[in-house]
Amino acid sequence: NKGTPSNFIKNIVIEDLQSGKVKQVITRFPPEPNGYLHIGHAKSICLNFELAHEFGGRTNLRFDDTNPAKEDTEYVEAIKEDVAWLGFEWDGLFFASNYFEEMYKRALILIQKGLAYVDDLTAEQIREARGTLTEPGKESPFRNRSVQENTELFERMRGGEFKDGEKVLRAKIDMASPNVNLRDPVIYRVVHTHHHNTGDAWCIYPMYAFAHPIEDAIEGVTHSICTLEFEDQRPFYDWIVRECEMEQVPRQYEFARLNITNTVMSKRKLKQLVDEQAVDGWDDPRMPTLSGLRRRGYTPEAIRSFVREIGVSKSNSLVDARMLEHFIREDLKLKALRTMAVLKPLKVVITNYPEDQTELLEAENNTENPEMGSRQIPFSREIYIEQDDFMENPPNKYFRLFPGNEVRLKNAYFIKCHDFVKDEQGNVVELHCTYDIETKSGSGFNARKVKGTIHWVDAKHAVPAEFRLYEPLIMDDTQGDNEGGEEASFLDNLNPNSLKIIEGFVEDNMKEAKPQEKFQFFRHGYFNVDPKYTVAGRPVFNLIVSMKSSFEV
Ligand code: ATP
Ligand code: MG
Ligand code: MG
Repeated sequence: NKGTPSNFIKNIVIEDLQSGKVKQVITRFPPEPNGYLHIGHAKSICLNFELAHEFGGRTNLRFDDTNPAKEDTEYVEAIKEDVAWLGFEWDGLFFASNYFEEMYKRALILIQKGLAYVDDLTAEQIREARGTLTEPGKESPFRNRSVQENTELFERMRGGEFKDGEKVLRAKIDMASPNVNLRDPVIYRVVHTHHHNTGDAWCIYPMYAFAHPIEDAIEGVTHSICTLEFEDQRPFYDWIVRECEMEQVPRQYEFARLNITNTVMSKRKLKQLVDEQAVDGWDDPRMPTLSGLRRRGYTPEAIRSFVREIGVSKSNSLVDARMLEHFIREDLKLKALRTMAVLKPLKVVITNYPEDQTELLEAENNTENPEMGSRQIPFSREIYIEQDDFMENPPNKYFRLFPGNEVRLKNAYFIKCHDFVKDEQGNVVELHCTYDIETKSGSGFNARKVKGTIHWVDAKHAVPAEFRLYEPLIMDDTQGDNEGGEEASFLDNLNPNSLKIIEGFVEDNMKEAKPQEKFQFFRHGYFNVDPKYTVAGRPVFNLIVSMKSSFEV
């Protein structure tokens, strides 16, 4: 590890180590297994793992699974795969649900101390009675039950005597506190639902705000890092650690969550897209999930560089999606084989080229990285070029093919257009060109110059391929996405052109392309071989990112 950039949490860690307050840094990444990880989670993963590793500490992967209705082992497995793919190795692998017995005992301690009570009010009544910022809360008529009655009722809650919602356990703190979170928050509820890990062992479940500090304390987490929304929860976090008499004392620190333009960044909303089949699963290449980005062709290196660049701060901001694109271009620039693909084919017959002849031409694999060597590509009488590289009536400064004009075929010869064929609808379907044998690429020919260079593939040898071109899923380019926001407006804002599937050709050597292999298609951009739809002999390519960007870091 070369050392991470400085940030306020890193400074706190350094101070804590220097003062001896902390002997070893222990962090955790605590996802709830209710969906797949997204790029926002990558920020938290990198921060937690890098912070600990840099100072000889440890990082746990902990599943915060206290909400059985929404959680599933499918998500547990996907999350493990994604964290490992990003390049991080966890020290401990834990489930909050493995601490349920311990949490129950700690809740009993609160009851014994007169700091928790069983309440019969409904969730709605409790919410109303808690008041607002400007209006104080009202005490529940059940607030002053005796320790003995509370202990008995809580045991009966565990025993399964009550229906969902019939009773809750609340911390007894201060209904007049200016911090609404301290107005007797609910810490246990009755939920008769099968749990992915504990099965039917429990029918009461701890609330997140109660469970989380206990989980951190049990694991000896020193720096519990979360997003800014939890800042107001910190007093309750500290209250729980203290009043539950936890032996180890963790501290919570908050940082700004990642928001990206045009990007939905909430598992709940991403799940909606999956459930309503607006996308092809959690790993749809348009999804900001780590599995979607992986299938799109993003690399762990690019994602880590991006996260490093955006940094860690305490003020929320919106990051331009083009910044992420910048880092994948940077990562693939010297790594990806540069090859030719024709996405919208137009046939060209080279009328003066011998029939039945094929020659092999030399092509560099990456002009910026000579170490990648070269390959041979076939050339013969019929080739494909892009439809856009020919115009019957070109405007000024159009330097590609039109009747009478000459261009360079990348890695091959100059060709000149003499004629074209149209179909019944008036579309140009074939060009007739001649080539000049003197102009062969690499021959040093310089008797005359052409202004346009276009790409092509040999018609006889080309491999048919499918190209999947992507635009953002969400139309609105000014908004990122936090929790909340209106459901309707989010689903109404889907971009109908977010996926376009077209059929074209790639070079013959691409028959062998393996899933997840990445290429730069000359003039088009970077593409990844789709692992789901590619079959032998017919690759499917996902557009990772186009060539150009106006964005500078
Ligand atoms: P979502 O709102 O998408 O459901 P979450 O916060 O509910 O996310 P968790 O599984 O609880 O999801 O998150 C695990 C960790 O990832 C938490 O510590 C959380 O703070 C962090 N995290 C989630 N989203 C972001 C984000 N956009 N930027 C930075 N960190 C994030
Ligand atoms: Mg959460
Ligand atoms: Mg959430």
